Amino acid sequence: MSRKMRLLFDLGFVAMIFGLPLLTWYFAITFVHYDAALVWPDRAFWSHIEPPSIASVGFYVLWIAIQALLAALLPGRMTEGAPLPDGRRLEYRLNGLLALALTLVVAGGTVWLGGIPAGLLFDQFGALVTTTNLVVLLGCVWLVGFGRRQADEEELRLNLLEAYAVGACRNPRIGRFDLKFFCESRPSMILWVLVDLSLAAKQLELHGSVSNAMIIVCFFQILYVIDYFYFEDAILTTWDIKHENFGFMLGWGCLVWIPFAYSLQPLYLVAHPEPLPFWGATGIVLLNLLGFYIFRTSNLQKHRFSSDPMEPIWGEKPEFIKTEHGTLLLTSGWWGISRHSNYLGDWLMGLSWSFTCGFGRWLPYFYPLYFAGLLIHREWRDAKHCRAKYGADWEQYTSKVRWRIIPGIY
Ligand code: NDP
Repeated sequence: MSRKMRLLFDLGFVAMIFGLPLLTWYFAITFVHYDAALVWPDRAFWSHIEPPSIASVGFYVLWIAIQALLAALLPGRMTEGAPLPDGRRLEYRLNGLLALALTLVVAGGTVWLGGIPAGLLFDQFGALVTTTNLVVLLGCVWLVGFGRRQADEEELRLNLLEAYAVGACRNPRIGRFDLKFFCESRPSMILWVLVDLSLAAKQLELHGSVSNAMIIVCFFQILYVIDYFYFEDAILTTWDIKHENFGFMLGWGCLVWIPFAYSLQPLYLVAHPEPLPFWGATGIVLLNLLGFYIFRTSNLQKHRFSSDPMEPIWGEKPEFIKTEHGTLLLTSGWWGISRHSNYLGDWLMGLSWSFTCGFGRWLPYFYPLYFAGLLIHREWRDAKHCRAKYGADWEQYTSKVRWRIIPGIY
């Protein structure tokens, strides 16, 4: 890489490391103090940044500790991940669903006994955004030193800034405890569920009832998380687990972005309890179910095909391309319609969550807009990886399956 390119990359990393936390503060402030208006952030705006509070720090430290204990101690099926470049396969304990269930029981019980107010995570939203950002920013400094001890030769060639931003190594582990696998889901996805429930409780406290829009968005977001844990072994074959290093990008995305940006629609609804008309609610539910169906069945088709290539898809024997690399590329079912129908289903769900907020503001639509960008970039990166890996077989696959994500459009 030329010096100029290196400098550009490094500047990009610095912009990301400072810019992304600012973005989460922007959202927290505008949604809580400016009714989600797209305001220009002046000095008065930024004065709303909340410092960490005793409650937010206490909660988050306890949160990480409890989730780590649950992940390490709860019983769960042991399974092997995809082969690493050196041929090794790491072991993972799958107990996410149990950890989620137990967390909900304990959190619900503590609220019921009066130990914490149900709206705590709304009350502490700003302070928690600051706390989690600081934890990730500082935690990743430690992770560079720790990860370097487990890095391979190629990873050791990353400069310090790069190692901080993208991660010093792929699978940093403390003994058998896998930091990436843990952070991807436990303190992030489960916290998203608690934040949603706390926001619904706040709406109830402020307005005396929970709107149908709030029920719909919380129900489907929580369903998304339950589904994620129900098919937890499928996470092991995702891009993040197979190919990404673990550093600021992935760590921040999971620990800060998921709980505090994916919950923006319920956050908006706290101050907007107006019910959706019946036709609107029905349309949103149908759109979400359609997205969920495409997302789940397409992911399952590929996942099951990888362990049993003869299992029928839509009642027929699967069609595939046998690659020189040795693996099979599925060309029937959803995978014969477009190369990433799973992304389309995921995006439709995100869009339906935003529809629960009506059309008064456009910031609640940030999620599907951002997610479209993320998925298009992800598809592009995945295609690059597959082209390099499969060569002419990939060209044959793409000439057979023309569409990247949306059949007939893209
Ligand atoms: P995929 O699950 O689509 O996996 C892509 C990989 O599958 C490729 O690298 C290739 O891997 C293999 N593959 C590609 N085409 C075929 C085929 N036709 N037959 C067999 N194998 C094939 O990608 P992701 O990991 O990106 O996404 C998984 C899910 O996670 C998606 O539903 C996505 O929407 C969701 N997601 C959600 C996010 C969120 O923030 N909510 C963020 C990112 C993803 P190989 O090298 O093994 O051949």
